[in-house]
Amino acid sequence: MTEELTKEQKFYQYVRDLPEEKLNQIRGNPQAVLQLYDNYPEGFMNIGLYKGEVILKEIKKKNPEVMIELGGYLGYSAILFGGQLQELNKAAKYYSFEANPDYAKIATHMLELAGVSNVEIIIGKASFTLPEFRERIFEDKYSPLNFIFIDHWKDLYVPDLRVLESLNLIAPGTVIAADNIYHPGAPDYVTYVNMSPEEKNIFNQHNKNPEGKQYTGRWNILYKTETIPVTNPKSGFSDAVEITKCVDFLSG
Ligand code: SAM
Repeated sequence: MTEELTKEQKFYQYVRDLPEEKLNQIRGNPQAVLQLYDNYPEGFMNIGLYKGEVILKEIKKKNPEVMIELGGYLGYSAILFGGQLQELNKAAKYYSFEANPDYAKIATHMLELAGVSNVEIIIGKASFTLPEFRERIFEDKYSPLNFIFIDHWKDLYVPDLRVLESLNLIAPGTVIAADNIYHPGAPDYVTYVNMSPEEKNIFNQHNKNPEGKQYTGRWNILYKTETIPVTNPKSGFSDAVEITKCVDFLSG
């Protein structure tokens, strides 16, 4: 019995089956590759160009040397943001954390097609792979992260932000962008990044981190944060992106 292909596998097959002439037209052109996802009849859970634009603006302001994303899926955001990083600075690196190896395989293919070569996909649950990643980038003298894009499962936003805080990957200057603030919604995350240090201290002491009890988070990190609503002019669909900047550490 043959198994039914998933939407993602069908998309992968569709891209590989494109005529050579078409592939030659889009090869090395990130915008043209992004259109393949955007024009595919079955929608994907990608950031998309409209919310993506808000984050691109912040990336241009920050000009990050090291950026990570939690949740890479089929590579759309890695092509959009990694491609921008590549344009700004040839030495900049984009690390895409993705739990699903099948998605990572498709993303690798799409990144190659787009000619975005500064992206490394790290396969596995981010809370498991981040500590090893941190060891590696510390060796490379990169720390903390300049820019973080959070876009995996919404119930993991706060736990994995606490992992990032505990691993000292967030410090004054780090910018964090989080997707899907209205849909499906990440109210716990918005509450967390708006907490005062005192509130955060109490929260972190009383709420064991499901991603690992050692990852309590850092109460003394001060954030400045803003929810930016975005409406897709074609579909009328509204969502928001949370842009959070680490502005200071309180000494405790
Ligand atoms: N950022 C992508 C884009 O805009 O193209 C979309 C990401 S999609 C909304 C969420 C992805 O997060 C899925 O591919 C899922 O497999 C991945 N994911 C879920 N939990 C994860 C975890 N703990 N660590 C890494 N990836 C995870």
